[in-house]
Parts: sequence; C-alpha cells; structure tokens
Amino acid sequence: MNRIQTRPIYVKDVQIGGQNKVVIQSMTNTKTKDVEATVEQINKLEEAGCEIIRVAILDMEDAKAVKQIKERINIPLVSDIHFNPDFALEAIRSGTDKIRLNPGNIEREDKIKEIVAACKERKIPIRIGINAGSLNKKYSHSCEAMIESAKDHLSILEALDFHDVCLSFKSSDPLECIEAYRLAAETFPYPLHLGVTEAGGLLDSTIKSSLALGNLLLDGIGDTIRISISDDPIEEVKVARKLLRACGLKRDVANLISCPTCGRIQYDMLPIVRQMEEYLNSLNKDISVAIMGCPVNGPQEASRADIGVAGGKDQAILFKKGQIIRTIPQDQIVSQLIEEIEKM
Ligand code: SF4
Repeated sequence: MNRIQTRPIYVKDVQIGGQNKVVIQSMTNTKTKDVEATVEQINKLEEAGCEIIRVAILDMEDAKAVKQIKERINIPLVSDIHFNPDFALEAIRSGTDKIRLNPGNIEREDKIKEIVAACKERKIPIRIGINAGSLNKKYSHSCEAMIESAKDHLSILEALDFHDVCLSFKSSDPLECIEAYRLAAETFPYPLHLGVTEAGGLLDSTIKSSLALGNLLLDGIGDTIRISISDDPIEEVKVARKLLRACGLKRDVANLISCPTCGRIQYDMLPIVRQMEEYLNSLNKDISVAIMGCPVNGPQEASRADIGVAGGKDQAILFKKGQIIRTIPQDQIVSQLIEEIEKM
C-alpha cells in the first residue's frame, strides 16, 4: 500500500512517519505518580503489542515520577501536559521521550523557548493535539478551524526553528475525523497520530475507530494510531493490532476466520472460538486459523487458512495447508489445534 510520506521523527528509538509502518500507541489510566501501578500497566501493554505509551502529567509529582517509570519500562514514554510549562520542563528533565503539548496554551513566551530549547537538546519531539471538542472559542466548529488552530500552534514552534513535530486532529465523530485528517494530510508535512476521541466502550469504539482509521489508513494517511476505549487499555492495543492486520499494515498478528454457525452445526463450536480467540490475541505470528461449523463451507474456508477445523458430529476434521490431517474429538479440538499451531 502506498502511504503518504511524512517528515520522520524519532521517539526514543521508534520512528514515526517517513515509512510504511504504523505505530501502536495507548495511554495509561493509572495515577502516573503511582509508579508501581503505572509500570505494571505499561509492561502489560507492551506485552500486548503497544509500541509507545502516553502518561498524564497533572502535577510536579507526576512529572518527577517519569524518571522512575522510565527506568523500568522498555517502550518510549510520552508525557501529556496541558497548560503548565513547568510540568513539561520537569518531565523533560525526568527523561520523557516525547511531550504532548499545545504551545499556544502556554502564555509565557520565555517558558515556550525554554521547553523548545530543552527538547532540541535532548531530541524530544512534541505532539500538538487538536481536539474538535475543545477548540479555542476564537475558532468556529469545523475541520478547517481545526487546521487553522494547528497552524497557530505550529507557527510558535516553527518560529523557533523546531520541526520535530507530529499532529493529531481528534473528534468523537468518526466522519469529522476522516475529513479533518484528510485536510491535515494535504496541509502539513508532519506525521499524523490518528484517533477517534471519546469513542465509547469496546463495541462503539471498535466500530467508530475502524470506520475512521480504516478509511484513513487505506488512503495512506496516519503514522501512529490510538483506539480510545472506555475500558482496560489492553483492549485498545488488541483492537489496534487487528485493525492494522485487516488493513494489510501488520503481518505478525494471528487472524481468526470463523463462521457465524447455523442449524447445520453438530458440535459445540462457540466455546472453541472463544478459547482460540483468547489464545490467538497474544500470538505474534502471521497465521490464519479457521474454525468452521460444518463441512458445507467448512473445508473450503479451512483449507484457505494455514490451519483450521471443520465440525462434524461431536468432532472436527483438522486441516493444515489445504490437507486433511485427522479427526479430533470435541474435547480435544482446542488443545490439538494449539499444539499444531505451536509447531508451525
Ligand atoms: S460453515 Fe456450516 S455451520 Fe457454519 S454457517 Fe456455514 S453452513 Fe452454517
């Protein structure tokens, strides 16, 4: 897929922009100053496939905690700062890898200069985040206004010859997101961080995020993604991985093919799908696994997958690369499938 080339930036050792890879981000929902809980959550997120993590900085204690957190995690850390320049400076001193800050929200020019100088010295990029719901009152509510707002924030950094920037244009409306990011991709050379904000719970967010981000990614737009979900952030990473896989932008994620079942089914398939889904979610393997209800469409689908089963009466036929391997009794389907996948 041809992707729109943007000016690359580096968040620690992770490249954003200027390449085909789309980087998965998430955000902790622990108190940042609770180092133990934050480190534990970040490490779990990394294990699930998160590549960059953002933490909220609400006070000096949070900013100082960045140092201890950084010592115990592997993935780059972004400090999210809204208005207080001293929190940004402290997070930079604590070793943050990137900051999320809108320079137009910082009133003191000397502080902006200090932040930019510190970021330049340590090669720390800045994300400017435009949110449709919290645009300054001087702008109207439109995608064009979101672009204008970004230009205003950007002009402050560019005047200081700072260009290690990425941008986001989030809205809770997926259609507005699509329009804003398309405009942004035409307007700016900088990498874009994609996300639908305040997208709801797992089901709602998966639908809205897949609609907006899927369209944009297939247009070649987007360098990092976050799926906002009102749930455990692990769910965000799971959805992000599956979305990138479905868009053909990530290969090392297992793909599950399974039928919806119907009256032709003669074995207990749904618990098998649930267990295999759980197992495959954490498998970093380019593999397609089919679980089919019956021999009507089953063997055909299953044979197109790398491995699969098609149900019979209280049993299933195991296929591998198009070949029938053997018949498995109902109670051994999951264990034998996993055993075969581990061998591949
Ligand atoms: S594969 Fe068989 S059980 Fe599954 S939906 Fe198709 S006909 Fe029904």
